[in-house]
Amino acid sequence: MAYKIDPSKCIGCHTCMGVCPVAAISMAADGKCVIDQSKCISCGTCASICPVGAIAHE
Ligand code: SF4
Ligand code: SF4
Repeated sequence: MAYKIDPSKCIGCHTCMGVCPVAAISMAADGKCVIDQSKCISCGTCASICPVGAIAHE
């Protein structure tokens, strides 16, 4: 089970991209971040630092 970013909450600060240990997070065309479900190891680091609580475990 991987983590997912809710695009309706994400403000595009990109902080999560810098903390992911496996580089599973990238920027989408709209400037918001997306998590590659095949790379995410569910460490939870991104969810703990997101300032708006946009990242949750599915
Ligand atoms: S840290 Fe949160 S608000 Fe910032 S880009 Fe990532 S998901 Fe979006
Ligand atoms: S839960 Fe961990 S591995 Fe998955 S996207 Fe967030 S920081 Fe990366």
